[in-house]
Amino acid sequence: MAQDTFDYDLFVIGGGSGGVRAARVAAGEYGAKVALAEDDRYGGTCVIRGCVPKKLMVFASGYAEVVEEARAYGWDLKDGPFDWDAFRGRMNAELDRLEGVYRKLLSGSDVETFDLRATVKDAHTVALSDGTTKTAKHILVATGGYPVRPDIPNADLGIVSDDIFHLDTLPKSILIIGGGYIACEFACIFNGLGVEVTQYYRGAQVLRGFDEEARGLVAESMRENGVNLHLGTNILEMAPAASHEEGPSPTGSDASMGATAQDALALRAQTGSKGASGPIWVKSTTGAEQVFDMVLFATGRDPSTRNMGLEEAGVALGRRGEVVVNEYSQTAVPSIYAIGDVTNRVALTPVAIREGMAFVQTVFGGTPTAVDHDLIPSAIFTQPEMGTVGLSEEDARAQEEVEIYCTSFRPMQTAFADKPNRVLMKLVVSKATRVVLGCHIVAPAAGELIQMVGIAVKAGLTKEQFDMTCAVHPTMSEELVTMRNPMRSA
Ligand code: NDP
Repeated sequence: MAQDTFDYDLFVIGGGSGGVRAARVAAGEYGAKVALAEDDRYGGTCVIRGCVPKKLMVFASGYAEVVEEARAYGWDLKDGPFDWDAFRGRMNAELDRLEGVYRKLLSGSDVETFDLRATVKDAHTVALSDGTTKTAKHILVATGGYPVRPDIPNADLGIVSDDIFHLDTLPKSILIIGGGYIACEFACIFNGLGVEVTQYYRGAQVLRGFDEEARGLVAESMRENGVNLHLGTNILEMAPAASHEEGPSPTGSDASMGATAQDALALRAQTGSKGASGPIWVKSTTGAEQVFDMVLFATGRDPSTRNMGLEEAGVALGRRGEVVVNEYSQTAVPSIYAIGDVTNRVALTPVAIREGMAFVQTVFGGTPTAVDHDLIPSAIFTQPEMGTVGLSEEDARAQEEVEIYCTSFRPMQTAFADKPNRVLMKLVVSKATRVVLGCHIVAPAAGELIQMVGIAVKAGLTKEQFDMTCAVHPTMSEELVTMRNPMRSA
């Protein structure tokens, strides 16, 4: 490909799922001369500190329950302790393997990589942290996001999701702040691994924005499984337990006995070990005081645009620091594009990958391709999982008259083991067109199920077309094609 007078046709900043995909397709399929800079590990949030290690932890945390269920099925299995060290070793080995795969994909596509921090100098120039500069016809910003702590004194005593995978030991007790994806998923994970979990969420119900009935069942199941979930509750104050006179006596590690908050933070800075500051005293907005071994802030993520030189180069940033882009992921500077979490559109790995593909198609394939953000299926890997696509009942009702087909029952597998767990299968159907506007599933493997239902909902199929499909029996999801009468309509 012609390079004009630039060093590269494309310079990608950020080696996460979106950036790597865009770089290797531009180079591998369109012959573009491409470079990519990453100052951390290749694979980004998803592979290194997000989806992949989280899902491995979801699997790990599910086995305690499996042992219990297996006994009901006649197996003579004994409970045993969970070995965090052994698991973490295997998890890290898997992440190393995957990072290697990402590096190989880039080198195999002839993408030149720089293990350096890159910032934007101007519309066509990138500055690298070794002091050199590179020019490119197009710059793609794919720097992702980072977890944020609330603005309260001593917030640094708490960990964020990035830190979880590096913990030296599992805490005996943890307080999780937040009610979003990360808070709920890790509440279930830690609970499954035997940690005493308390969760504070400031709103009326966790998983705001999702279908009311579905998130209600997730919350109910989380409580049934042992998560101490407090709604309408937030953290008000926190301090090292030992330094807090009114706080109850700390338990567990005495690493910071007699320390002040500053001492504890200094200790953490020296050791680099998260959670090394010892028990933490917490006061909630309801006035309750309690000591926890660890506090996890799962209070959202902000786009990584700080000190990137973007605004100086003319790129517009939004209220949360996100790069403002048009439907082709193009910024206010025509040669600079941005994809993935840094744009704060839909912060999901497959969406970033699709945005990367659409960018390449637009810039190198000669076909302007807008990213389709409509009807994206997603899953929350709580226990039980929640899978969702399309409109919630509440959002659909606000839009038009709907019929709700819904059933909730104890599934055969766990009912046999005398477990109370219920699942939910729900379809939101337009009264006028009969199109299925939304599907919400709370059940084991709901993520797998919603991937398939997502095809039908994306295709705009009607309830009657769902019903034309023969049931697979006996399964939980056969209900999705056998619900004859609406539970309610409005
Ligand atoms: P979310 O935005 O989903 O949730 C943040 C939570 O923190 C909300 O419950 C919010 O409350 C609460 N919160 C925000 N600020 C404060 C505060 N100052 N004090 C107390 N609570 C606060 O963010 P997550 O970090 O959970 O996840 C980030 C994104 O990552 C998700 O939106 C999702 O796109 C992606 N993700 C996807 C996963 C998946 O696909 N399975 C898994 C994990 C992450 P409120 O509701 O009141 O605003």
